[in-house]
Amino acid sequence: MSTPTNADATLSYTQERSKELITRYDTILGEINKAMIEHNRPITDIQLLTVSKLKPASDIKALYDHGIRHFGENYVQELITKANILPKDIKWHFIGGLQTNKCKDLANKVSNLYCVETIDSLKKIKKLEEQRAKFVQEHAPTEQTKNYTILVNVQINTSMEDQKSGLTDENEIFQIIEFLLNEAKYVKLNGLMTIGSWVISHQDSSLLNKDFATLCDWKKKIQDKFPSQFTEEHQLKLSMGMSSDFIEAIAQNSNEVRVGTNIFGARPTKDQAYI
Ligand SMILES: *Cc1c(COP(=O)(O)O)cnc(C)c1O
Repeated sequence: MSTPTNADATLSYTQERSKELITRYDTILGEINKAMIEHNRPITDIQLLTVSKLKPASDIKALYDHGIRHFGENYVQELITKANILPKDIKWHFIGGLQTNKCKDLANKVSNLYCVETIDSLKKIKKLEEQRAKFVQEHAPTEQTKNYTILVNVQINTSMEDQKSGLTDENEIFQIIEFLLNEAKYVKLNGLMTIGSWVISHQDSSLLNKDFATLCDWKKKIQDKFPSQFTEEHQLKLSMGMSSDFIEAIAQNSNEVRVGTNIFGARPTKDQAYI
């Protein structure tokens, strides 16, 4: 992936592209709100995460100028490059497969990292906590740490497919939750996330999505295990649903749908993408 040097040029977009992106975004948002109303859910209980991986920074800037602040990225280096050239009040979500040796860069090089949604081991969450603590001490020792706290979602492998990342072991899940609730200071538990099986996500939309149901079961299991930590108003958030199945996810109580293709169009391959 090449990185142009002139940031201003990189961020400029045509009126035509801007119109197209805004129209698509507003259409999705309308569909989300309609589904929330149909299922008697308050509109404030859902968030649309705009997934911008492999899409140019100028596309993100066009949506930013329309008022959108939450963007999701999958690759650490791509996220770092985009975060450097785009406005600092963007709330970045990391939603890609996370490697332990990338936790350091993520914590150190993206000051406005808002949420890491793919925590799937105790080792990785401890690394992220340790590295964010260092980052805050070095760069902003006098500022409130909460400005730099990273929200995290624990990723669950709900489809039990070997090639899917995410956790399946109850003890390991509880250990991570306990660490987040009782020890961590620079990372904070937000909720649970799943991708789910491709086949299920493309099934007849009248069927109950088993992956989403499994994530709901995990939410209940965890909240029952740590009852003093959750209330009616303060519950684990569920990140589930993508372009192909976000309406079903809303019916099954999703709090965040992660939509890329329906907003930006089909993605290029990694070697054809540019920032
Ligand atoms: C790419 C990606 C998305 C967006 O997928 P679309 O089908 O393009 O909407 C959502 N979540 C994760 C984890 C992704 O990697």
